[in-house]
Amino acid sequence: MSWRCSSTSNEGLIANLFRHGLIKNDTVREAMRKVDRAHFSPIMPYEDSPQGIGYNATISDHNWFIKTHPLGPKAAEALLDRLGPGKKVLDVGSGSGYLTAVLAHLVTPGGTIVGIEHIQQLCDLSTANLKKDPVHSGMLQDGTIKIVRGDGRLGYPEGGPYDAIHVGAAASIMPQALIDQLKAPGRMFIPVGGFSQYIWQVDKDEEGNVKKEKQYGVLYVPLTDAKEFRDEN
Ligand code: SAH
Repeated sequence: MSWRCSSTSNEGLIANLFRHGLIKNDTVREAMRKVDRAHFSPIMPYEDSPQGIGYNATISDHNWFIKTHPLGPKAAEALLDRLGPGKKVLDVGSGSGYLTAVLAHLVTPGGTIVGIEHIQQLCDLSTANLKKDPVHSGMLQDGTIKIVRGDGRLGYPEGGPYDAIHVGAAASIMPQALIDQLKAPGRMFIPVGGFSQYIWQVDKDEEGNVKKEKQYGVLYVPLTDAKEFRDEN
């Protein structure tokens, strides 16, 4: 695939994503520049392909290969109309915290982002990853970024309604709870499907009318039940 190119720096990674047209927007580029992927993805952080985030040894044995998805920044771009200072975002399946950090830079000052992740170890890991950078550490302290443990399919109503919801794992069916937690207006970027998955863009307009648009085929890890994971391990 065209986005599979390696680089030796964060700047190089971003340049590759732009060169291949995966990202086109300067605002997203600036946000990405503020987040060093090496803090989140210890192995080959600057290769623009999915990277394991530290739990692969355990997780891949059970076919649970957790990744920082290369489409993350593209998702940020798709949500951009609903981002900006003061906006509220929900990042479902926040994993390493990488995309949560990128999105946080797209809502400051004044905005908030909740990263919801169902595996406690990944909540702890993402928090530790974010603390590697004093700016992100400050965002955790002042509440700009909040990492919570929970089933992302149910969202996090306490933090909503949200201007934008990013879902970083594929839902088997469109989760109504997430649509309910969208602000009017608001937008959700979500992969839906099983064997065959597609990105859907869900827009809620000012009157609360919901429009769902099927966009392009993708391959994400599934949104699952955390209990299954614990039982297998
Ligand atoms: N965007 C993330 C990576 C997402 S990988 C990053 O930048 O690192 C998908 C994530 O979804 C994994 O961390 C997985 O544990 C999480 N996940 C899967 N099912 C979930 C569920 N039901 N609720 C919350 N998180 C879930």
